[in-house]
Amino acid sequence: MGTLDVAAIETASGTDVGRVRAVNQDRCEEFQISTGARLLVLADGMGGHAGGEHASRIAVDTIGEVFCNERGEAVLTLRRAFDAANEAILREARHRSELHGMGTTAVALLISPDGAWTANVGDSRAYRVRDMEIDLLTEDHSVVFEAVRLGRITPSEARTHPLRNRLLRCLGLESGVSVDVEHVDIACGDRFLLCSDGLWGELEERELCAVLATERPDDAVRILIERANESGGEDNITVQVAAIPGS
Ligand code: CA
Repeated sequence: MGTLDVAAIETASGTDVGRVRAVNQDRCEEFQISTGARLLVLADGMGGHAGGEHASRIAVDTIGEVFCNERGEAVLTLRRAFDAANEAILREARHRSELHGMGTTAVALLISPDGAWTANVGDSRAYRVRDMEIDLLTEDHSVVFEAVRLGRITPSEARTHPLRNRLLRCLGLESGVSVDVEHVDIACGDRFLLCSDGLWGELEERELCAVLATERPDDAVRILIERANESGGEDNITVQVAAIPGS
């Protein structure tokens, strides 16, 4: 497609504690800069004594701050932003012993007039819905995703696997994190979804697809959170949607 009218993209974000957990360690934000570029970013924190909440907040705030202050190439901006978030979490954990061991996933979608990119560490996800089909744009850095990829377990076994929450990569684990940054094909009418495992772990991809394809972003966010809660709400649920105008 030609130059994107980024200002016309409709977005919505929402997060919910779910039905089981006492606190919400997920966080998400939307950012926009004067060049027109927009960023959705979502983080799912882990670690006791409020560590998870701190880690996801630091990640989202730091990634947003770097995005708002850089004017370089999208790929470099995303890499710098995730690196800075990783270092900021490690720094905070060093200064406050009660937060030691905190970490977080982070997934971001950057849309500029030049195109779209995802960045990902952990098992939060980005999807694209086009022509009533849904595509997973990111790879989970988790034990079960790896096992499915290698054909050792099936996707349905992965859903209930005892190690399903075990991550191979996250922000806050060690200095110099490896970040997946991918260019994403974007077309009129596309819908993008970012979500934590509290959503994708509760609902089948075809359900995500049906809601995204038919509802406006703010309704899609509300409906998906409701459905994840109806299905058990075992974890915090966070959902961000971007709708590219056109049919
Ligand atoms: Ca989670």
